[in-house]
Amino acid sequence: MLLNMMQDDSFEGGAFHPGFPKGRSSGTLRVSPSHVHFTCGNGSFELPLDGVQVEEGGASDRLIFFKHPHNPGCSVYTDNKAILNHASFQHHRGMQGQKAAIAKRRWTGRAVLAGVFTTVALVLVGLWLAKAPMVGVIAGQVPVSWEEKLGETVFKQITSRARLMEDPGLQKQLELLTGPLVAGVRSERYKFKFHIVEDASLNAFALPGGIVAIHSGLLLRAESPEEIIGVLAHEIAHVTRQHGVRKMIETLGLYAILGALFGDTEGLMAVLVENSGALLNLKFSRDFERDADEQGWATMLAGDINPRGMIEMFQKLEKEHEDPKKKAGVMGKLETPDFLSTHPGVKTRIDHLEEKWAKLPKQTGYRTFDLNYKDFQNMLRSRLSQQPPSAKEKK
Ligand SMILES: [Zn+2]
Repeated sequence: MLLNMMQDDSFEGGAFHPGFPKGRSSGTLRVSPSHVHFTCGNGSFELPLDGVQVEEGGASDRLIFFKHPHNPGCSVYTDNKAILNHASFQHHRGMQGQKAAIAKRRWTGRAVLAGVFTTVALVLVGLWLAKAPMVGVIAGQVPVSWEEKLGETVFKQITSRARLMEDPGLQKQLELLTGPLVAGVRSERYKFKFHIVEDASLNAFALPGGIVAIHSGLLLRAESPEEIIGVLAHEIAHVTRQHGVRKMIETLGLYAILGALFGDTEGLMAVLVENSGALLNLKFSRDFERDADEQGWATMLAGDINPRGMIEMFQKLEKEHEDPKKKAGVMGKLETPDFLSTHPGVKTRIDHLEEKWAKLPKQTGYRTFDLNYKDFQNMLRSRLSQQPPSAKEKK
């Protein structure tokens, strides 16, 4: 750098010349009003400014080369691009045109580079954006029988640690409760099966294929069929929107996606079942939760059920969350995939549902249920008291 600045018209550089050893030598360039001169330990030569050709070259176009048709095989170069601004070049005919050409080439080069970068970035963004739809498409190709098998596998793991209340009287009441909701589901793909799990915590969850489990604690805490249906509508939406399957495919990632693309559906199923335990600890994204709220709300309306129940149940859940004494109970004994422990931002969701409620045309003619909810709760309470103590409690 210091050397480059020794004199205004001297520039460190080099030259190719057949007379130099190995045809090349480093030295000094000097620009006069008529020539570009080159001097080095091996000698010197000069190129006339009239007719001189200027080009960029070398790695990353770091160097400026000067050539002249009268001196074939010779060229001089420097990495000091300030040479182009030398006074002798300022008013030289032909030189300005060549400088402009260099600038244009540089700009085009940068534009091409920027274009390549933009294309790569767009492709990456595109892949990222396409990921969710891609996972959705693959999930849509999973046969419903597989989803059922997946759900049953997980449910077996859960019921090995939890007790179901399979009393026929309770089951009949449960059908009266859930029938109108199922009638509001547009998809015919799933046959929903509802189970009551003996568990005091406020929770419910649904598994791929259509198994829905409701904790006895939630049924006892609710004050109307609509409140329970609010939770179940949300849970059912996780099934119809294949959130569990999608989340699993997402987690399994490229293997699942490539396998499914190449028709290895058997392999995908094997991997899904093998990893079904992951469903137990599955946490849905906020997008999935919001989606389940939206779908659940729509299903309630389609079943002519007052959706206000969903808001009221969420408010109860929020209250339970706030009470530190009850919080332990809320989280549940079981590591179940949904409902409460994995639902952050209940307040935000209530606000959103309130907005939806405010936009609904005021109507009073929602359907009524063919069961007396209080009687159902009493029946549940009495069956709970008749249940033999569980293995855990015996210890
Ligand atoms: Zn959920």
